[in-house]
Amino acid sequence: MAGKSKKHRPETLAVQALGWIDKSSGAVVPPIVPTTTYARAPDYTLIGGRSYSRDESVSYKQPEALLAALEGGADALLFSSGMAASAAAFQALRPGDHVVVQENLYYGLPKWLRGWAEPWGLKVSFVPTGELKPLETAMQKGKTRLVWIETPANPTWTVTDIKAAAEIAHRAGAKLAVDSTAGSPVLTRPIEHGADIVMHSATKFLNGHSDVIAGALVAAKDDAYWQGVKYVRQMGGAVLGPFESWLLLRGMRTLHLRVRRQSENALAIARHFQDHPKLLRVCYPGLGNDPGHAVAARQMQGGFGGMLSLRFKGGPKAVLAAVAKLEVFVRATSLGGVESLVEHRGSVEGPESPVPQDLLRVSIGIEHVDDLIGDLNQALDAI
Ligand code: PLP
Repeated sequence: MAGKSKKHRPETLAVQALGWIDKSSGAVVPPIVPTTTYARAPDYTLIGGRSYSRDESVSYKQPEALLAALEGGADALLFSSGMAASAAAFQALRPGDHVVVQENLYYGLPKWLRGWAEPWGLKVSFVPTGELKPLETAMQKGKTRLVWIETPANPTWTVTDIKAAAEIAHRAGAKLAVDSTAGSPVLTRPIEHGADIVMHSATKFLNGHSDVIAGALVAAKDDAYWQGVKYVRQMGGAVLGPFESWLLLRGMRTLHLRVRRQSENALAIARHFQDHPKLLRVCYPGLGNDPGHAVAARQMQGGFGGMLSLRFKGGPKAVLAAVAKLEVFVRATSLGGVESLVEHRGSVEGPESPVPQDLLRVSIGIEHVDDLIGDLNQALDAI
């Protein structure tokens, strides 16, 4: 690796992808290395120190090192999806271990915990999102191994105090893991607030172009638990392919530019619509009257992210009627890409979903903000 050291600012590290120059060609863009296997010398030593790409690949080492630098972590691991990364954090534990997980966050995680991890033997206590008292009450000293929070939490963007959650987890001898997908390392660096593990659906803001499914875990410390996570990836095999790793690294080069623009656009949109007569409320931690604003202002820097949700007075019918009229926003799941998306989570998660049926999740992209405001205005006018 050529020379970008920690003294440089995170955006410089990201833009220059830690300053790698390919030694054989001088290329400033790393090659895509599709190899699955690595040659040995006649004395049977490994020429490059690597043996097989499920164990370790030259392709994902680069985005891993960049992500670890951006998060201020000791190490990072990329996975074939955000869910694979989350699952590995729990699979590194043992059947019988106790974990505490927030209830209302990315819906796939509680679904997987109930459908796979509990039958496997993990003891899971679900607690309300954003609240510290129930979290503290759920802790079992010496038994709870992991606390999992997501902040801001998809899709209500409820904020949890990372520092306070870390203190609660550590007092009971547990680790704190934070799904920081919505914040990204541009806005939140959970390790600085005491988190032990940071998780990202790299599919979202880290990559930013809606063309890669990927996940990541970052560790504050390389300890026995982290070695267990590494084992899960190596033996379970949920590694990221070379082309996806390359696209992810390319996406991360513009992370700061994108996330700042998305945050500016989102704040302008949240402010514009906060008193709209057809809306119950705009859920966005950047608004001064949002219940999570004070904590978010403390633990997020330079913005509040590109995610917000709109709650409609007219319920799900009004949401779907407005969504049908949108011309700039794309009706699609996912988030964090350069293009703005909307999703009615109620339609996707069904009537049992804990997500309010009147909620429309909005992922703000980097388009001109006036086009985004104009599109939402005309859609709301039409209902
Ligand atoms: N965490 C959050 C906050 C998400 O929004 C998602 C996906 O939407 C995930 C985790 C899961 O990530 P992936 O879809 O990359 O598996």
